[in-house]
Amino acid sequence: MKQLLENVSAFDDFNPGSDYFEEVNRKRSSGMNDLCTGCDYCSGCPNGLEINKLMQSYNEYVFSNKNPRRLLHDLHVKWEYAQDRIFDCIECGQCEKKCTQKLPVIERIKTINNCVQDDLRKTRKQMERYFGDKHMRNIGIYGIGALALQLYEKYRICYPDECSNIYLFDKDEKKWGSAPLHREWRVHAPGDIEKFKIKRLIICNANHYEEICRELQHLVKDEIELMQYNL
Ligand code: SF4
Ligand code: SF4
Repeated sequence: MKQLLENVSAFDDFNPGSDYFEEVNRKRSSGMNDLCTGCDYCSGCPNGLEINKLMQSYNEYVFSNKNPRRLLHDLHVKWEYAQDRIFDCIECGQCEKKCTQKLPVIERIKTINNCVQDDLRKTRKQMERYFGDKHMRNIGIYGIGALALQLYEKYRICYPDECSNIYLFDKDEKKWGSAPLHREWRVHAPGDIEKFKIKRLIICNANHYEEICRELQHLVKDEIELMQYNL
């Protein structure tokens, strides 16, 4: 489910017309020498970096006109690197000497790390909006599906040691009692929202947000803040 979600989200703002493919073809033919071929002659990094994977992800960056989302998608989905993985290159230069394409591997790894750090900064800022208020206790996540899973993954990166005071809610009674995101977070019935003294409810449903808000209107009167989770 995690992989499916990440695959789909990579195409959120991807709307290729014929121009896109022409551009890719142009880059393929004009910049072939700047691309990693995946030959793996560079293997043996003293810091254990899988250079061929990183450089192939960098290929995607080149093909997409330096769109960091394509690069990150490749790293996280294709190669399954954690979203907060920084690639620790000690700049020994061994790989560059061995590279059949004479690629500037060190510079490219720096660019990759910059993209990862930028993405983490944005994620932290986003999570701050939902979970960062220290005075805000008892936060609920409503609608336990792919979006909630993505929200949880971001939460986990930003608050690795804080997994309390979060409650899950869903209308589907088949989910009640299960713990699909975190082992300490059980899914409860919406009727329990008041019981847990929820102060903020994050709604993870892009298509039916308004409808859900109407259904939960009586809670707003009880001063529960409703927020929509946006990707
Ligand atoms: S320059 Fe960096 S990536 Fe290349 S072999 Fe040395 S440590 Fe590994
Ligand atoms: S040697 Fe160069 S072209 Fe081959 S996998 Fe390594 S970085 Fe890519």
